[in-house]
Amino acid sequence: CRERAAAAVERHARLIPDFPSPGIAFKDLTPVLADADGLDAVIDALAHVCDGADLVAGVDARGFLIAGAVARQLGVGVVAVRKGGKLPPPVVGVDYALEYGTARLEIPADGIDLAGRRVVVIDDVLATGGTVVAAARLLVQAEAIVDTVAVIMELDGLPGRERVIADVGPGVRVHT
Ligand code: AMP
Repeated sequence: CRERAAAAVERHARLIPDFPSPGIAFKDLTPVLADADGLDAVIDALAHVCDGADLVAGVDARGFLIAGAVARQLGVGVVAVRKGGKLPPPVVGVDYALEYGTARLEIPADGIDLAGRRVVVIDDVLATGGTVVAAARLLVQAEAIVDTVAVIMELDGLPGRERVIADVGPGVRVHT
């Protein structure tokens, strides 16, 4: 099913040069998800590598589109890892460095039992790895076990995968 997903990405993904800033080649995967067969292929491939998870965490915002569908396919629930300031209190949050400036991710402090549960972190694109590492840290802080990070696309020439393994732990599986 990986080949089918890769073919869908190849066919539908858009590359936008110099967005959101000069020098960045932005990979827009939303047309892959907007195509019924592309969505099916991508969700199938991700669900396959996330098998055994107790819960699927999607990173704000494109990760939400993917995580909900993967969770449904696995028969488990989904949790939204949100950008700072979106959730009502109480929240737990983590600040992390971006290329320029900082960002914040948050999850609810109440109502979702994460302790001891195997949670997979899902996003659309793995670039420097900072975002999924921050999401994983937050979930681990809430006592979840993060053993898998799964994204649709990993960018060449950036140490995202290495960073996830270094920061989340050598046992983490990174699937793209
Ligand atoms: P990073 O934290 O550097 O791994 O960046 C990953 C996050 O930023 C993901 O949520 C992506 O959606 C987004 N992102 C970063 N770089 C790109 C890119 N070149 N194309 C598309 N999305 C990107």
